Amino acid sequence: MIAPIAAFDRMGEENAFAVLARATALAGQGRDIINLGIGQPDFSTPPHVVEAAIKALRDGHHGYTPANGLLQTREAVCRRIHQLTGQTVSAENIMITPGGKPAMFAAIMMLGEPGAEILYPDPGFPIYRSMIDFSGAQAIPVPLREENDFAFSAEETLSLLTTKTRLIILNSPSNPTGGVTPRAEVEKLVAGLEKFPNAAILSDEIYDVMTYDGEHHTSLLEFPEIRDRLIVLNGWSKTWAMTGWRLGWSVWPNRLYEGVRKLAVNSWSCVNAPAQWAGIAAIDGPQDQVDEMLSAFDRRRSLVAELANRLPNVTCRLPKGAFYAFPNIKATGWQSKPLAKELLEKAGVALIGGPDFGEFGEGYIRVSCASSEENIRQAFARIGDFLTNS
Ligand code: PMP
Repeated sequence: MIAPIAAFDRMGEENAFAVLARATALAGQGRDIINLGIGQPDFSTPPHVVEAAIKALRDGHHGYTPANGLLQTREAVCRRIHQLTGQTVSAENIMITPGGKPAMFAAIMMLGEPGAEILYPDPGFPIYRSMIDFSGAQAIPVPLREENDFAFSAEETLSLLTTKTRLIILNSPSNPTGGVTPRAEVEKLVAGLEKFPNAAILSDEIYDVMTYDGEHHTSLLEFPEIRDRLIVLNGWSKTWAMTGWRLGWSVWPNRLYEGVRKLAVNSWSCVNAPAQWAGIAAIDGPQDQVDEMLSAFDRRRSLVAELANRLPNVTCRLPKGAFYAFPNIKATGWQSKPLAKELLEKAGVALIGGPDFGEFGEGYIRVSCASSEENIRQAFARIGDFLTNS
């Protein structure tokens, strides 16, 4: 009998895709489903970006590009980084990948092995844990606590570091909690890392522009003292509503760059050329649609928190970033995953149970704000009825 190697049994999943499939199947049967489970903007890619891809195809950009991405696209990323952080990064340290996810894959594959320890946020994006387990490294959860508004605690993170720590994964603004790490905590963490020179950092900054109430995202790129061991993951998926285009960028230290470039050569070769040209247009073109989307997310996350707090026995912190809220359902008597399942099957509302983002997610559900205010109101009316009558 054929079988994949055992490491594949350790590989996890992203349950959001399974929920999306089930929600789509139910809708296909004629059920009225409101999807608050989805992790992608409910907006279209700006038209000038779409036009740039069409033009690239018409202009004959049909072939392979360099494995690390077109120089023009990497230079556009450098401009973007400079605009947002004031930092100068060389195009030689930028890698263009099919979405942001491959940067996670590459970083964990390059640094994870049996005997190594990798710190990751919990609750956090499930692929971190999945890939750490696949690599054979020990996965060490860094709890993100509600009482701390789901921000990283530098002190707690530093207390988990050992001489075996090879990689620390950070994500702010955060999926699934909407937490944003304050600058002071990032500074404290960076200062503490001085004692652990062998620990690399993967900072997942894919929600960087999605912060609210004057909150500001602090990029790890703003700390030159860790640049030689810092990987920053980012991309076009969220900011320009381009999840289906599969286009991401990451910043790599010289020592690891060859590794990720070779992974590209050995697997995806390069990102499709028209998407890379579209990515330049996204960065250099008008940002009014991005601003509109961010205003809509800002209104919706306030609405979600307000409506969640009105539910019986539910409380919800106001998310400071990304487009998710993470209400606490502990007092309802429900466990998170059964509640999410019942809400989908019985009330027609798709959301994700907190434990799909790690063990510290029990007692919470993730609500995505990627749906209209009207849908959000209707969904919460249904959830309220369900909790009252169940
Ligand atoms: N990091 C986080 C925290 C995410 O939420 C996501 C997407 N849901 C990604 C990375 C991956 O993004 P992409 O679709 O660009 O691969």
